[in-house]
Amino acid sequence: MSGERENSNFIRNIVIDDLKTGKHDSIITRFPPEPNGYLHIGHAKSICLNFGLAKEFEGRVNLRFDDTNPVKEDVEYVDSIKEDVSWLGFDWNELHFASDYFEEMHKRAVLLINKGLAYVDDLNADQIREYRGTLTEPGKESPYRNRSVKENLDLFERMKNGEFADGEKVLRAKIDMASPNINFRDPVIYRISHSEHHNTGNKWCIYPMYAFAHPLEDAIEHITHSICTLEFEDQRPFYDWVVRETEMDSVPRQIEFARLNMTNTVMSKRKLKQLVDENVTDGWDDPRMPTISGLRRRGYTPESIRNFCSEIGVSKADSTIDSQMLDFFLREDLQPKAPLAMAVIDPLKLVITNYPEDESEEIEIENNAKNEEMGTRMVSFSRELYVERDDFMEVPAKKYFRLFPGNEVRLKGGYFVKCNEVIKDKNGNVIQINCTYDPETRSGSGFVGRKVKATIHWVDANNCRPAEFRLYEPLILDNDPENKGKHFLEQINENSLIIKNGFVEKTATENLNKNDKLQFIRNGFYCVDNKYSSDDKLVFNRIVPLKSSFKLNK
Ligand code: ATP
Ligand code: MG
Repeated sequence: MSGERENSNFIRNIVIDDLKTGKHDSIITRFPPEPNGYLHIGHAKSICLNFGLAKEFEGRVNLRFDDTNPVKEDVEYVDSIKEDVSWLGFDWNELHFASDYFEEMHKRAVLLINKGLAYVDDLNADQIREYRGTLTEPGKESPYRNRSVKENLDLFERMKNGEFADGEKVLRAKIDMASPNINFRDPVIYRISHSEHHNTGNKWCIYPMYAFAHPLEDAIEHITHSICTLEFEDQRPFYDWVVRETEMDSVPRQIEFARLNMTNTVMSKRKLKQLVDENVTDGWDDPRMPTISGLRRRGYTPESIRNFCSEIGVSKADSTIDSQMLDFFLREDLQPKAPLAMAVIDPLKLVITNYPEDESEEIEIENNAKNEEMGTRMVSFSRELYVERDDFMEVPAKKYFRLFPGNEVRLKGGYFVKCNEVIKDKNGNVIQINCTYDPETRSGSGFVGRKVKATIHWVDANNCRPAEFRLYEPLILDNDPENKGKHFLEQINENSLIIKNGFVEKTATENLNKNDKLQFIRNGFYCVDNKYSSDDKLVFNRIVPLKSSFKLNK
């Protein structure tokens, strides 16, 4: 099995440097999700980076819920995020809620007012936007900008006490309305919101803005390297300003990297929430979702996700990764681990007319051709079998070597069978094929006679279990030129879920638990669905087909 991949990257080099020069004795990183949705594979990239660095350099890492926005957040999301991070294989040193720092943040805002670096503004949101100016024009100062410290302290206190309505007043940093960096043009740092917060209830009706709260959270936790995505690059000067002017003891360093984008999916909690709310998917953990819970339910393993994140690396350049790359790592991980089994997902009855009725035998088949240690199992075989419908053609195409009238194939692990007769219903559909078998040809018997060109899999119709197979295709058709420029909800693949009903062998499916993975031979890797599968009816999610044209560039 391949080990975890270690890839160097510019952030890791910064850490190495900071430890070497003694800037830090040890590092502290954090993963700071906003609990407004479930985590997705993009978050996994950030998790692997932050937890990976802390682990490699024997530092520490915090899981912090960035819950400064009261209206969009929910405990359901908090719980799911914890579960997902743990499932990915990471432990946090400390668990924090940004909302636990509201008191401290408020104190630091008051400090800014006292230093003449913050003021209460009565302009409304539209006016503030208008006054802000553009990339080419400087902004305009608010008429309330020069309120006295005393007046600002009083108004801010009254904002806190609930004397004003939402939007009536805000607290702004007083920096420079003509700064070339728009983020420096007196950004809003506190706003009024009379809404209940999942953690602090109704204690507060003023909430810090993300750009003000985040650097404080990092400084309070003594984060050394605060890693975020590229869109925060322009915010860095303000981040540093906040830490400096609020006189925090600990000075974190913000470092930006390119977010993960993938083909055929959307990667933003807001959009994913829309898919859930509009019932496009079966919840956040729908196996077609790029959420960690969706990937888990589909059957992806933590190892495959970690190896994927390691392979895509960390850089400053935006790029879009082919979603098939994740499949590559799934196959690589499961190939030696997942037991082989035979399943027929689109069944056609095959009757061996010269096999005695009421008799059966057991055939020994290896549990994993790539891993001998996994041993063998005995699979029941009798006169009536199921084979895949597409392993038979009444009129064979060119180079078709599987079953057709007059042709002989090997049944995996068993005998040669020859197709003699095709039985149809009144509409002309093939419902059964009758074959004869040659008892001399059993696998492992040392038979050296004629050869056949194909081996097909089968299940014993008298000793098997019914099963549902859920086959997935990409949810979003963004590789289709027809769809370019369309809203993602107009790009939904109508055929992203195909359900097949068939059969699986009994032996390999005894004692199966939810989330167990199997490799159905000649087909793909499958996982027992954790929502719909039961002992009466097994439900399997196809994680990935066996074959792919995707190649990893090495
Ligand atoms: P979303 O738009 O999906 O809500 P977000 O960036 O707003 O994403 P947060 O909950 O704030 O989500 O993210 C927590 C951390 O995960 C942040 O540090 C963020 O930079 C990182 N992150 C989010 N999306 C990605 C991504 N696609 N690739 C890499 N890191 C990401
Ligand atoms: Mg966000």
